[in-house]
Parts: sequence; C-alpha cells; structure tokens
Amino acid sequence: MNFSYRHTKFISFDKFSAMLNIALFGPPGAGKGTQSQFLIDEYKLIYISTGDLLRKEIKAGSKLGAEAKSIIEQGGLVSDEIIVQIIEKTITDHPDANGFLFDGFPRTYIQSYILEGLMIQLHTKLNCLISIEVPEEKSVRRLLERGQSSGRSDDNDTVIRNRLREYREKTLPVLNFFKERGSYVPLDGTKSIPEVHNCIAQIVENELSKNLLNIVMFGYPGSGRGSQGLAVAKHFGLEFVATGKMLDEEVRKGTEIGKRIEQIYNSGGLVPDEIVVPLIEAKIVNSKGVKGFIFKGFPRTLVQSYILDGILKKHHFSISKIIDIEVDTLEIIRRLDKRSKTDKGMPYDSSTEKIVKRLEEHRKKTIPVIEKYKKGHQVTVIDGEADFDTVFERIKNAIVTGVKNLR
Ligand code: AMP
Repeated sequence: MNFSYRHTKFISFDKFSAMLNIALFGPPGAGKGTQSQFLIDEYKLIYISTGDLLRKEIKAGSKLGAEAKSIIEQGGLVSDEIIVQIIEKTITDHPDANGFLFDGFPRTYIQSYILEGLMIQLHTKLNCLISIEVPEEKSVRRLLERGQSSGRSDDNDTVIRNRLREYREKTLPVLNFFKERGSYVPLDGTKSIPEVHNCIAQIVENELSKNLLNIVMFGYPGSGRGSQGLAVAKHFGLEFVATGKMLDEEVRKGTEIGKRIEQIYNSGGLVPDEIVVPLIEAKIVNSKGVKGFIFKGFPRTLVQSYILDGILKKHHFSISKIIDIEVDTLEIIRRLDKRSKTDKGMPYDSSTEKIVKRLEEHRKKTIPVIEKYKKGHQVTVIDGEADFDTVFERIKNAIVTGVKNLR
C-alpha cells in the first residue's frame, strides 16, 4: 500500500521534547488496532492498548489478570482502578517516549480525567482524540468476521452485543469530555482502510505542524544574528530562512525573479515585498519534514511583520521565540569595520557611510517591529557582548526555556 503524507520528525533537543500523544477512539471493531500500526512505525509512538495489556496479564496468570478475566469474557468493562495501574506502569516504563498512542483508553468519563492527569504529570497533553465513527451494525459484522480468526473469546455474538451496550452507555460520554477541551476529531470509519489511514495521517500532520519551533532572530547588523542564527539552526535542526541569501540564490540561478532582483540591485534600490514574500512562503511550503524555521533578516519592517504573522497563521504555524541580540553601537561599528577588512566583508560594509546607513535603517524600520513583539511578551533580549560560544549558550538556553514554558 502506498500512502501519501508528509514525514515530519519530532522537535527533540536537549532535555526538551515536544511529545505527540494521540488517543484512537471508536466502538469495538472500528479499526483502532489496524490503524495503530502505521502511527507506531511512522511516528515512533509507544502503543498502549489496554485490551492487549489486560490480555497479557491474563496470559501471565497475574492477580490483576484473574480479576479482569471474567469481566472481559462477559463483555463488561474492567474497573478504572485496574486500568490506571496498567497504564501508569507502561508510561513510567518509557521515560524517553516521543509520545503515546492510546487504543481502547479512555473508555469511561472517569478515565478521561485519569488520562488528563497522567499527561499533566508528564508536562504534556493529549494532542487529539481521533474518533473513528462506525454504525453499530457494521461493528457487529466486522467483529464476527474477526472472531473467525482472532481466537478472542469475546468476539462472539452475545459478548459483542454486551460490549457495544457498554460502549453506548459508558464510553460514548468520553466524547463530551474531549469536545469541551477542543481535542475531539471525528472521522468516517466506514471508509476503506487506506482512506481512513490517510485521514488519520492528515490529522497527525496538522498536530505536528503546531509543534514546529519557529524562531525570529533580531539584532543590529554586526550583532552576530547571522552567524548565531546559523549555529542555532544547526543545533536544533531548523531551516535557516535568510532573505538576503534567498534573493542572491535567485540571482545566481538566473530565474525570472532573479533577473528582476539583479536589476534592482544594480540600481541600488530595495527589493520590494512583492518579491520577498512569495519567496518566503514558497520556502515554508516546500520545506518538508523540518522541525521548524529560523528567520533572519525578515521581518525588517512593521508591514513585513504583519505579513509573516499572516503567512504563519495561514499554514497553522506560530512564532515560538523571538531573540534580539543587543550589542553596544560603538562595538557594532568596530566589528563591522573589522569585518570589512577581512574576506567576510560584505559590499555593504565597504564604507563608514554605508555602515551608518544600515544601522539607521535598522533603528528606524526594525526597532519598531521588535517593540511591537515586545508588547506581546515574545522577545528575549540577549547580551551579545561576549565570545561566540558564550552568546550561543545564552541564546540556546533562552530557546529551551521559552519553549518549555509554552507547553
Ligand atoms: P479491546 O481489546 O480494546 O477491545 O478490549 C477488550 C476488553 O478489555 C474490553 O471489552 C474490556 O472488557 C477490557 N478493557 C479494555 N480497555 C479497557 C478500559 N480502558 N477500561 C475498561 N475495560 C477495558
């Protein structure tokens, strides 16, 4: 089978890891077990099927298994006390999990609270409860079919009817709990296995895109925003979005846009937003499987900041962290002057007049953008007057702490 969906990996750095936690919900026979496998393989989730765990306990002949056995054979629900014990054990056995996939849990309203509590203990949350919706008669038919080969004593007509009654009376109210929290996502479970698979993949990708780590780097020219930005991108595995480089790349490739940019460069003008914005949007859309983006040199103006907010919103992303590297003006001039005398010197560093003009541009146009973001309490000011590694450590710590606080 060939399913098409984006492969997004997890943000996982230092001690922080954004987890992906999903519950598959639906009546017995909805296809929860069938759909679980690709989620486990693709997203490396720890699978927690309370049914499987209980069957294991029964097979092992444990006290807990003995308690559960007769209830399962009659199609009833095992007590919440037993369930909480087996779930908690599995979770604590996997301290480094990327995330958990719950199948057959929560099955009662009380178990919804248990799940919420367990997630809080892990400083995380359930991303979504995917409800695979199937009419009762279809469930019965599927379970009877499965009963011919599953070897499960509860896959027979009488027990199936009991299980579905329990589902209607005790399990369906779980949906209200997650509807209230905005994490209930229904899908049509009567579709084919690959179709349901694709729906689930889409839902998971949407969830993962909310987890992207998007950083904006600010700072005066010469503050180190470029070199630090690159180092941060490398450390966290982020896509480095530097508008200057992107424009140069178009010129180098000789594209239609590149030719227009070259003309503007030659006439000494500024490249207009109409050119920069589609390039940035294309970069975001075409960067598959990234953990996030780090923007440098954009937004440079208030207008561009509204544009960036809009583009991110359109693709269900948001800014996770804004860094502003502060360096004293005299030190900046000293650094840029020094740089102009090395092979790292840029054409725009070549005279004091040009340097001062760039600093002025930043003060007039970009400082108001930082002020705007500061009002939203999103900016961390970093003291950039130290050696490269020390400043890098400061930025790295600010990002890790900032993202932790977001959870
Ligand atoms: P399943 O494999 O999910 O169909 O579960 C088989 C049986 O295990 C159910 O009919 C219940 O008796 C029991 N069981 C599984 N998960 C739970 C749960 N979360 N709460 C109570 N009973 C459960």
